[in-house]
Amino acid sequence: MNLQTGFSKLTKVEAHPEVLEIYRYDFSFIPKILSGFVKKPLLVVQPSKVEDLIRILEICERFELSIVPRGSATSAYGGCVPLKENCVVVDFKRMSNFEFRDDCVVAESGAIWMEIEREANRLGKALRIYPTSALVSTVGGWIAQGGHGVGSLRYGGIENNLEWIEVVDFKGLRVVKGSELRRYIGAFGTTGLIARACIKLRENREIKARAIDCKFSDAILMVEGAYHANFKDSKLMQMEGYQTQDTLMLCSENIESNELGAEIWTKRLTPLRSASKGKRIFSEVVLPYERAVDFYENAKRVADGIEAIFSRDCVVFLASFTTGCREMLKSLKFVKIAEKFGGNVYATGMLFSHKSSKELRDFKRKVDPKGLLNPKKLEPNVFSRIIRTLRIFL
Ligand SMILES: Cc1cc2nc3c(=O)[nH]c(=O)nc-3n(C[C@H](O)[C@H](O)[C@H](O)COP(=O)(O)OP(=O)(O)OC[C@H]3O[C@@H](n4cnc5c(N)ncnc54)[C@H](O)[C@@H]3O)c2cc1C
Repeated sequence: MNLQTGFSKLTKVEAHPEVLEIYRYDFSFIPKILSGFVKKPLLVVQPSKVEDLIRILEICERFELSIVPRGSATSAYGGCVPLKENCVVVDFKRMSNFEFRDDCVVAESGAIWMEIEREANRLGKALRIYPTSALVSTVGGWIAQGGHGVGSLRYGGIENNLEWIEVVDFKGLRVVKGSELRRYIGAFGTTGLIARACIKLRENREIKARAIDCKFSDAILMVEGAYHANFKDSKLMQMEGYQTQDTLMLCSENIESNELGAEIWTKRLTPLRSASKGKRIFSEVVLPYERAVDFYENAKRVADGIEAIFSRDCVVFLASFTTGCREMLKSLKFVKIAEKFGGNVYATGMLFSHKSSKELRDFKRKVDPKGLLNPKKLEPNVFSRIIRTLRIFL
């Protein structure tokens, strides 16, 4: 069987060199000197249904080709770029249908979060949580990266908001729910391709937002009971064009909104506007509530600006740095300080693959003995080795 015709029987295939070049990038910052370690894929396939995914894995297994799943490439951890030659990128953009069932939506992996939200709103429903990249990012991409977003203060992370997911691996299609979900959430597609997800919804009641000038140590005491809350320090607020102090944005159905709160809430889906002030690196860590204030007081000296997103059981901190070697070290220092206070880097991906859990690696060996599913994303690779070495100088 010829490889390209084998694929093209069932799905759209891209093989033009200029198109393939695009698939070497995602939102992560890779210094030019290291960009050669990211490979151009052999082919890009765009399946349109679950049966296509099953067939793609069959062909890849037969020809020993690695498989790199890709949503909208907004993750900044290098998860969807190929690190090995002879790889096939599975681009989910044509699997984007969704349908509503009672208090859930069943969505294919390539569905865009905000498109689901708009349709849900028409039915009087709303997503419980979504990432601030929701205008472009996909269902499968966010589940595979794992995370917290708007609404996570009340509803928790993505793992708390799924009824089930359907996953395709070399044995075919399986439905995954309950504690088994953790083998796929945050696994960066290394243990299976997510085909569909059943996502929980809430009643669509209007959310109002109030901005409050306050220190982080006061902000953390005010968030209980809200739908969503985030805090931006004065440096970040100024970078984003506001003339103001450290600010907590508190969002809920029964809150009295004010002008600044309403403006920040309206702009919640155009985040990282500070990026427009030049190229920036972002470092994200997650801390338990009880250590968050101590962490913040120690970490704020390192970053150009910090945002904290309050989730149900943890606080996610996002720090911004200009690009450059010293700044890159500072962004790693930010992670090191988090670890000192019992925190962790937010996600692993290609850059922090050395921090993936043993449980996940053991499971991968079982379902993917040839190591074809998104290789070098759970085990150390050149990027994660450099990051690990740099830590010695911090
Ligand atoms: C402006 C901005 C704001 C953001 N806000 C948030 C936020 O609020 N919360 C948050 O957690 N993150 C946030 N992110 C990070 C990122 O956008 C999210 O994680 C996002 O949802 C990833 O979706 P994607 O479609 O872009 O996935 P991609 O970046 O394409 O993929 C992410 C990972 O998932 C894998 N993958 C993709 N599709 C599948 C699939 N179907 N099956 C298996 N594996 C798959 C890829 O290989 C890759 O490893 C933000 C990023 C940006 C740029």
